[in-house]
Amino acid sequence: LPREFEIARPIVQNIEEAGFEAYFVGGSVRDTVLGLDIHDVDIASSAYPAEIKKIFKHTVDTGIEHGTVMVLDHGNGYEITTFRTESGYQDYRRPDKVTFVRSLAEDLKRRDFTINALAMKENGEIIDLFDGLTDLKNNLIKAVGNPEERFHEDALRMMRAVRFASKLDFMVEVNTLNAIKNHSELLEKIAVERIHTEFVKMMLGKNPLKGIKDMLNTNLCNYIPGFKNHLSEFKSVLNINNLYLENESQVWTLICYQFGLNTKQIKSFLKAWKTSNQIIGNVTTMVCALRAIQTKSLDNMLMYHTGRTLLNSTVQLALILGMSIDANEIISEYDSLTVKSRDEIKINGSRLMSLGLVKPGPIIGKLLNAIELNIVNKALMNNEDSIIEFTKKFLKE
Ligand code: ATP
Ligand code: MG
Repeated sequence: LPREFEIARPIVQNIEEAGFEAYFVGGSVRDTVLGLDIHDVDIASSAYPAEIKKIFKHTVDTGIEHGTVMVLDHGNGYEITTFRTESGYQDYRRPDKVTFVRSLAEDLKRRDFTINALAMKENGEIIDLFDGLTDLKNNLIKAVGNPEERFHEDALRMMRAVRFASKLDFMVEVNTLNAIKNHSELLEKIAVERIHTEFVKMMLGKNPLKGIKDMLNTNLCNYIPGFKNHLSEFKSVLNINNLYLENESQVWTLICYQFGLNTKQIKSFLKAWKTSNQIIGNVTTMVCALRAIQTKSLDNMLMYHTGRTLLNSTVQLALILGMSIDANEIISEYDSLTVKSRDEIKINGSRLMSLGLVKPGPIIGKLLNAIELNIVNKALMNNEDSIIEFTKKFLKE
């Protein structure tokens, strides 16, 4: 068993010694069977949260209303969730009511896909009530139970299906896929933050083209923010041969670039997706840089504004898009800039004022911009004397 399970084993054993059942569940079991690396191990148990808290000295109530308690052990944290069923999905979203149960089978039944409904005993034995192992072998994403019902319960599962298809390079099983086709409009009921998570994971998966194809074929694309009027542009992403994206900023940069959005449109598009301000900033900058790379108009000032990290990310994207560029050349041009940020400029506004060269007022901003521009463009040397001389000339004009 992978090390992550070995070190978590005593936790499961402790719960069992107290007279309850406990299993490893969810993604970590699936990924272990597939031979993939795992990050966090989830544990499900027949013990109720209060009972878990009695067994362990150090616990944190991370989601007690859903039945989740975190157990701290040797610097690691383990989420232990009580077996539960969910009922009353009135609005196609989360259940109205979570009920704790003592049966593992009940808990596994409410899980989304057969490959996600595996449980593993502490000794490594797999419990597979829905033929998840067969589906894993056949590379299939198949709903547990009746797919139509399952998507009515929680429409996000439709996005999760295409996300896992991409992440694992699996196919969505035909009945599951047809149910998505028939109910794609239910996705409109789902909070955009939850769609956002699955969509980005889909784009960052092993075979995003598969996920994109499924999203187009099932019409899920019509029910996510801002895609309906850009379906042909989204479809053109399918022509990209090696679509391996590294981070969320690259995902949105690719999409905004393909959609041909201007800065204002990018902002409102990403706001509709409830994307963080940090990402919005990155993406507006990267789309600008990408267009400049494409039109061979990337200049010093734009590189300077983009910064090394985002420039590098953009250059990678340009290569993915098949632009004929020399990536190393662009990065070494960036590295040869004499300044990388404003605080590397040898003289600042207050120094210029204390030298009596300029009085407080809007002129200072204009002057500093001009100094910055000329230094970045290598038309002005970055030392006090040169900047003072430049300032005198600038103020005369
Ligand atoms: P990842 O490695 O990407 O985290 P994961 O399988 O662990 O994949 P999570 O979103 O972390 O996915 O969910 C953990 C488990 O909870 C899933 O494996 C599945 O059993 C269950 N699950 C999560 N979301 C849902 C849902 N909307 N409906 C039913 N079951 C779900
Ligand atoms: Mg997980």
